[in-house]
Amino acid sequence: MEMDSREYNGSCSCGREHHIAVDTLCIVSGAADKLKDELINGKYTVYKYPVILCDDNTWHAVSEVLNGLQKRCDRLMLPSDGLHADNHGVALAKENWKEEYDLIVAAGAGTIHDISRYIAHEKGIPFLSFPTAASVDGFVSTVAAMTWDGMKTTLPAVAPIAVYADTRVFSKAPYRLTASGISDLLGKYTALADWKIAALLTGEHFCSRIDKMEQKALAEVLDCIDDLRSGKEPAYEKLMSALLLSGLAMQMMGNSRPASGAEHHISHLWEMEVINAPLDSLHGEKVSIGLLLVLEKYQWIAEEIRKRGLEAVPYQGMQESVIKYFSDKGILEGVQKENTPEPLHSFTVEKLQVSLPLIADILEELPACEEMEKILKKAGCAYRMSDIGLVDEKVSGDTFKDTTLFMSPYVRNRLTMMRVSWMLKSVKETRS
Ligand SMILES: [Zn+2]
Ligand SMILES: [Zn+2]
Repeated sequence: MEMDSREYNGSCSCGREHHIAVDTLCIVSGAADKLKDELINGKYTVYKYPVILCDDNTWHAVSEVLNGLQKRCDRLMLPSDGLHADNHGVALAKENWKEEYDLIVAAGAGTIHDISRYIAHEKGIPFLSFPTAASVDGFVSTVAAMTWDGMKTTLPAVAPIAVYADTRVFSKAPYRLTASGISDLLGKYTALADWKIAALLTGEHFCSRIDKMEQKALAEVLDCIDDLRSGKEPAYEKLMSALLLSGLAMQMMGNSRPASGAEHHISHLWEMEVINAPLDSLHGEKVSIGLLLVLEKYQWIAEEIRKRGLEAVPYQGMQESVIKYFSDKGILEGVQKENTPEPLHSFTVEKLQVSLPLIADILEELPACEEMEKILKKAGCAYRMSDIGLVDEKVSGDTFKDTTLFMSPYVRNRLTMMRVSWMLKSVKETRS
């Protein structure tokens, strides 16, 4: 299928102009042939020195379908072992970089795309996306999600000018990658709830058209889970188009707000290895577990609000234990900078108190944690902490789960319900 990105461009009922940078979104069996044709005879002939950026795994997946480009494109193959979207990964790519390169073809999944979009931005050149797995929704993102000097952060980058997703390639990716893409999309449930709550409390810009795009992506992925597990190609195209739709939603917003909330902050915290050892897990797998933890917590908050068991109180600032974790990791300064200005200072305690019933309304629209666990299990996604190598044991007094929930909002300067919960105290506690 061809997705028409132009329909999302231009003025919107939310009062903003939305801009989409990517013009071609081609998701078909044979997309590689279209890409090759454009490179050799078509619109990309204006670029003299294209380079294919890949790693040894992703090259293995694309070498056959991209055969015939040897004379046209250089190939920059990074070692897949230990490759991440971080300073090191970028340095590896730059080691053999030739200054004459004027176009990057990113042939890989999330990591290769983030490295490509970062370098493309730095060098001021465009890049083309050739995804090898339906594993993340960030292929068309305008920002690169990188770990920079130990901090998980989003760095300025560019969106691809076009996406060529060849079903023959991405439907054959290891299922673990596909499952990760499903989880990344299901994470939109809590991301969208966080966005609505932030809009309610602070008047942050909210676009219902973008919200609907994410809802559509969610509906599509729920619809194709069985067919994905049985390997049906049309289901893979549906998943890829849902992932790209979510990416377009981010492009329209200009940031990841519609696609990343408390569940992603948990994933980022674990990637930063502040309270845990390095995990051998994919982005979507961490989002999967993050999503379940957030749903459980949000469900509890909604119930407590209904029972009038929670009261809004002023934010007390970063706790000693949190300061210790971040300073032991050597990133306290970076974290403090990230959290300035403090998002919780953008509304009053009174505003939160009167908004509690409306917040409960938003939270009650979320699927129940148990229901989500069933969906994830059925889809073959990670759904237990142990699936990603974590155990919920006590770490200096608190459980690992509680420490995760409490610390994760600090990774990003973004208002989520998880962060708002720092301003909620149990009525019993406040009165005693
Ligand atoms: Zn809008
Ligand atoms: Zn994600």
